[in-house]
Amino acid sequence: MKHLLEPDARALPDWLASHGLPRYRAAQIRRWVFAGRVRSFEEMSDLPKDLREKLAADFQLWTTRVALHTATDDGTEKLLLELADGQQIECVLLRDGPRRSICISTQVGCAMGCVFCASGLNGVARNLTAGEIVEQMLQLDRLLPVGERLSHIVVMGMGEPLANLDRLLIALGEASDPSGLGISPRRITISTVGLPEAINRLTELESRYNLAVSLHAPDDALRNELVKVSKNIPLADILRAADRYFEASGRRLTFEYVLLGGLNDHLDHARRLAELLRGRTALLNVIPYNPVAGLPYRTPSSSAQNRFLDVLRTAGINVFVRERKGDKINAACGQLRRSVEQAKQAASSESTATPGVVSIAPLA
Ligand code: SF4
Repeated sequence: MKHLLEPDARALPDWLASHGLPRYRAAQIRRWVFAGRVRSFEEMSDLPKDLREKLAADFQLWTTRVALHTATDDGTEKLLLELADGQQIECVLLRDGPRRSICISTQVGCAMGCVFCASGLNGVARNLTAGEIVEQMLQLDRLLPVGERLSHIVVMGMGEPLANLDRLLIALGEASDPSGLGISPRRITISTVGLPEAINRLTELESRYNLAVSLHAPDDALRNELVKVSKNIPLADILRAADRYFEASGRRLTFEYVLLGGLNDHLDHARRLAELLRGRTALLNVIPYNPVAGLPYRTPSSSAQNRFLDVLRTAGINVFVRERKGDKINAACGQLRRSVEQAKQAASSESTATPGVVSIAPLA
């Protein structure tokens, strides 16, 4: 069976034509999928019944299953989605004033080796298909009440987006298409650990998405310890590629810096980070570390955070501290999936435990 959300502009019109049906029905079906929030073809009530039956016979609308749905009182909701092959990925809905932002994944796991991150602990299993990326957007959109729509997308979930660039761009095309989710590229941000060749490719493709580049260290020596993939990627190459992208696209450039207590939060780190970014029209997002059970890293104290930020602000760097939303639901990258895996392992090793029951209470 084909996946209806697998973007292929010709697939549905051609299928309709091959069944002797008018091609214009494709736009009607698309409206149901992107605006109608339907669960099944049966709910596409203005389509002829025999068309709905034919669609159900040949296409799958949803390939993912919500394995777990958690929420906190700050409005953050997180889904653990099970894919058709049993792999699991995470995606998040964040509410901030009128904003309805989502954070989506591009891979099962991650190969970049950021030592503090739960997503990459077991490496990467596979890339997501474009349809699976789109499906996350629609699953999260369905959490909103009638009248509310998604407004922003950050591609910052599990995986390195630029390692799955072709499929990501197809999926983002659906997100920004007026007949898709209709979200402006200005409101879509791709976050990368910093792969210069892929950033250069984005520049050449004249991409108009915002770019966020994760630094996590002010020099190559420390970065090589924190981000394993960076051993062969000097910071200078990453910054050069990011500058080129900014010049060509004019889109907002953000640098990300996860602040790890006692590791990269010294005043000297802040001074050298300010030096590295001086003269750039960019925002620096400082993200106090969200601890992961079993990993030996900690959140810096408030006073250490403030001292670090003071140095940067005094140096004229445009700094923003990212609020830690959704701590209670393992909102940082890969934590929910890991918690569930660990709970399953613990359950299967205890003869009295009920298989499949996890310690996090699902909402739906
Ligand atoms: S922080 Fe991002 S790039 Fe680094 S391992 Fe985790 S998912 Fe991969």
